[in-house]
Amino acid sequence: MRIGVIGGGPVGVECALRLRMLGHTVSVYEAGRIGQNVREWGHVRMFSPWSLNRSEAGSSLLRDAGVALADGEQFPSGADYVSAYLMPLVREMRGDVRMCEHTRVVSVARSGILKSEEIGGGARHGSEFRLLVEHEGNERNETADAVIDAGGVWSQANWAGIGGAPVPGERAMGERIERRVPDLGQCRERYAQKRVLVVGAGYSAITNLAGLLALRGEDAPTQLHWVTLTPNMPYQLIEDDPLPARAALAALGNTLAGDDARVVFHGGVGVSAFEERRDAVRVRVEPVCAEGVASEIVVDEVLSNTGFRPDTEVTRELQVHHCYATEGPMKQAAYLLAGSGDSADCLAQVAGGAAVLRNPEPDFYIVGAKSYGRSSAFLIRLGLEQVDALSELVGPG
Ligand SMILES: Cc1cc2nc3c(=O)[nH]c(=O)nc-3n(C[C@H](O)[C@H](O)[C@H](O)COP(=O)(O)OP(=O)(O)OC[C@H]3O[C@@H](n4cnc5c(N)ncnc54)[C@H](O)[C@@H]3O)c2cc1C
Repeated sequence: MRIGVIGGGPVGVECALRLRMLGHTVSVYEAGRIGQNVREWGHVRMFSPWSLNRSEAGSSLLRDAGVALADGEQFPSGADYVSAYLMPLVREMRGDVRMCEHTRVVSVARSGILKSEEIGGGARHGSEFRLLVEHEGNERNETADAVIDAGGVWSQANWAGIGGAPVPGERAMGERIERRVPDLGQCRERYAQKRVLVVGAGYSAITNLAGLLALRGEDAPTQLHWVTLTPNMPYQLIEDDPLPARAALAALGNTLAGDDARVVFHGGVGVSAFEERRDAVRVRVEPVCAEGVASEIVVDEVLSNTGFRPDTEVTRELQVHHCYATEGPMKQAAYLLAGSGDSADCLAQVAGGAAVLRNPEPDFYIVGAKSYGRSSAFLIRLGLEQVDALSELVGPG
């Protein structure tokens, strides 16, 4: 089959490798560079070790090619992971897999069959996919017999506002709100000696707080505020956590949410308005539980880490069944909710096998972080399990 893979992140690259080994003709469309999203947090040390981030197939290909593999117990940075694993894999596949970098998939549809027709099968089976792709301002169509969406969620950050919708003033803030995990050492000018607010209680928020605290001396922010919906102790500690970096972040989070002079902690509140002034940003917060206290926080910079959600627009013309809560594909979402939905431990998760990858559109699959919808519990390790299941479903070419 001719298979189009949307996204050249960790999971897209592993899909390409396995599908090529099965004898299919594979094209990977990557909006940026290979591993683009990981590159953007490349300065951060991963909390999962090498052994969880490499597949058996990928490791053997590199070993056979004479590429030295780092010790499986070590923890790479995002940049190490791209340069020492993803890029060598891509180099080894060159000539066999079409890697289209800087090529964004704008939409995917079936040729000649509309979304509303042939529900869940019938003639949809034989009708090829048409992908509208954009490269350097030029658009073209590509066709495929199967499409794998490994586009991740990194392109769509959730709003900072209470309830998840934008609050007054938030849309106008534009890039004045940083929604990722920047290399704070490289943006000292923006954050040094400033009043800074961090919104959110996930690992990205605490990574940003740790980065801001690391800007010491002259460069330290003059005041650091932290807003979370949870009233206190936002992190559930995992007993004997096998991922020490994750345990350290969780412990730091709980310390900062306690009586710690380094941060002004506002627990049990959500942001209800942003007002951008010439010299400052005024942020109003409202209580979401009995412990929360309404206040107005005046800062220079805002980092909002309230998670990401999938871009469902790309495949809107296909028959994809999305979960109404997570926006992930329905079977995968139901599996997560029924199984380990409550677990604070992403290591406790197991991919659900081939059955959960199926959805109404024949020969179309969603894998990787995008398959988890709004859940942030996805790990590359789960993506590697999904690639095994996908290989079973697709079969040899
Ligand atoms: C600070 C930080 C630390 C992390 N640490 C870990 C860790 O230690 N271990 C771990 O397992 N995970 C970690 N993660 C999570 C990790 O980012 C994901 O597990 C991983 O990136 C998921 O891979 P993916 O291939 O599914 O998606 P992504 O890495 O998001 O890749 C998707 C790719 O698709 C491309 N794309 C998107 N839309 C389109 C389109 N329409 N057309 C073409 N291309 C498109 C994107 O540019 C991107 O390159 C961390 C995340 C952050 C933010």
